[in-house]
Amino acid sequence: MHFQTASFRKLSNVFKLQKFLPAILAVTVLAPCVSYEPADAQVVKRKLPKAGFQSLMRPGPGAAGVGYSGQQMAPGSSGVHLVPGLDRGNRASAGDWYDPGEPDLKMQWVRWEPRKMPLRVWISPGLELPSLPFQELKATRVNTVAQMCFGADPNPFASLTQVNGWKDEMGEAVCAGIEMWKPFEQEGLFSFDFTGNPREANILVFFNDNFAGATEPGGISTGGYTCAQAIPFAKIAEALREGKNPRTPPVVMELSLGVNSTLEKLKAATAHEFGHALGIKAHSPYRDDIMHENRVVEQLSQADKNTIRRLYRSRTQWVL
Ligand SMILES: [Zn+2]
Repeated sequence: MHFQTASFRKLSNVFKLQKFLPAILAVTVLAPCVSYEPADAQVVKRKLPKAGFQSLMRPGPGAAGVGYSGQQMAPGSSGVHLVPGLDRGNRASAGDWYDPGEPDLKMQWVRWEPRKMPLRVWISPGLELPSLPFQELKATRVNTVAQMCFGADPNPFASLTQVNGWKDEMGEAVCAGIEMWKPFEQEGLFSFDFTGNPREANILVFFNDNFAGATEPGGISTGGYTCAQAIPFAKIAEALREGKNPRTPPVVMELSLGVNSTLEKLKAATAHEFGHALGIKAHSPYRDDIMHENRVVEQLSQADKNTIRRLYRSRTQWVL
């Protein structure tokens, strides 16, 4: 049975709409994830490219939107943070993990509350949210989507347009990337289902050709972006004690179909972004982890697995 069958069979689940608690103190956090195309992608495809400023190429003419190639070496650039990445080499062990904390919260850990399970994930059919300069996403994205989801309109995203060239198989690749985190359900860490109703979704996935203003000299381009609002658990607990059922804002994932120009790239980029959506806020310093900022691997590493386990076996002061 194909994974899709099981996932989408559950779309008809009825979900009780909770009351949104707008007064909750929330901190918007987000994770820009950059991606780059080495000059000779064919050569390095089977091994990890050396991540570092020296390996990054300036975009060639006409290359925008489909990855990058070029000849000219470029120094590191400001704007998009780029880390060369550490190499564990032979030191990798089953005990490895990295700090998943939220940099904007002094590395405090953030995770979904147990009462939210199973999380509902809505993958839009290639829909693009209103384009905004990259730097403005953080301030507005979650609230914009939350207002649309929580409003009276039964079809809140009907006005959005589909990205040019959208194909259903792209949605399947995104689904497959998300399902790379599915095995942890067996360990009782969290659970998630796909939904056909964005208004009940905890995590929503949108798309674009490329992020506005996110391509930097040096060939670095943003492949995905995940926005969330972390909420102090004390606020949730207080609301629950008062008999309220606080509805918290959704997590918003956006994926660039220009940067993730193949289904394999799209799947891996989705797996990375869904790691953020689950609460791995910081990037791994190691380039053999899918949560490395300049992701070069396509599967969860042992450290990725150990990190999500640690996160979900911990109590956190901040929740999604
Ligand atoms: Zn990232």
